[in-house]
Amino acid sequence: MVQKYFEVLNLLGQYQHFALSTHVNPDGDALGSELALYSILKDLGKRVHIFNTDITPKTYHFLPFQHHIKSPADLRTVYSGIMPEVLVVLDSGSLDRIGDQLARQLQPTEAIVNIDHHNTATKFGDLNLIETGASSTAEIIYRLIEASGMEMGPERALCLYTGLMFDTGCFRYSNSTPVAHRIAADLIEEGISVDEVYRFVYDTVPQVRLHLLGDVLQTLETTEDAKIAWISVTQDALKKNEASSNDLEGVVNYIRSIDSVEVAIVANELETGDTKISMRSKTNVDVGQICGLYDGGGHARAAGCLIQEPLYEALAKVVASARLHIDGWNSKSE
Ligand code: 5GP
Ligand code: MN
Repeated sequence: MVQKYFEVLNLLGQYQHFALSTHVNPDGDALGSELALYSILKDLGKRVHIFNTDITPKTYHFLPFQHHIKSPADLRTVYSGIMPEVLVVLDSGSLDRIGDQLARQLQPTEAIVNIDHHNTATKFGDLNLIETGASSTAEIIYRLIEASGMEMGPERALCLYTGLMFDTGCFRYSNSTPVAHRIAADLIEEGISVDEVYRFVYDTVPQVRLHLLGDVLQTLETTEDAKIAWISVTQDALKKNEASSNDLEGVVNYIRSIDSVEVAIVANELETGDTKISMRSKTNVDVGQICGLYDGGGHARAAGCLIQEPLYEALAKVVASARLHIDGWNSKSE
């Protein structure tokens, strides 16, 4: 596996002109790993631009270099016909996760490099650095920097610690491996202040989030055995609270925390009328597989998909699929 890191480093060394991107609705890991790699490439004297479909949530405005992130609308002015040699896609199980427009228009002349840790990762790159055992894409970028012999430094450490902290749920989930903790310790030694990162990411929310949370928790429903629980978030609920889908970050964890629950679902009605599903499981059900049935994916305990159907129709389908998985698992364990 070490070999793969050197292949990526060779490729990064070989070319001069890079674009970076990550998945829609970027989270701490997506942004942290992207910005740390941006900084490395800059220090190597490369020409590099970051294009993300969705704007960086305010929560992450504390991250160094985030002001360099551009939107798909900037493609034309930045490139005016001359595309970058290499596109590096981070934390995205498939190329379409970077968003339709970028996937179509951001076509590098030489290679796509895919760096990811999702169970459902596909090998869409010309070079694929996929580590399903890694806690986060940040962990992979940490190893890449280590292999390069370049200095970590407090700015890159802050980016990577944010990614690691986010994807391990503040070192609570099963991906909080000894390796993840060792890397965290190393990053902290670069001089970052962990309480500040935590405060920025989790303890600084606009008031609307709490109003929205109050409203959406009222929609809680469960199956008869209460193993599957879900909430439905309508456009009306978002508009009433002047909130957006971003303000639902973390809400699914409240649903999963119910003692009886094995699978937690948040169904979010989008402006388009389609439905975004966020799914979590507690111990046994592979929600990455369930979301895979609907062209989504993710990890065994955290996954999502976009279903082109109205809220309640989409919800009925994923609840039925979760039911089948739970029943399948029960019959296997008996
Ligand atoms: P969340 O529920 O927080 O949006 O996402 C949980 C996990 O599932 C993340 O690792 C995320 O990358 C993945 N995920 C969420 N939505 C989708 C989707 O529509 N497609 C795929 N392939 N993965 C998703
Ligand atoms: Mn990730």
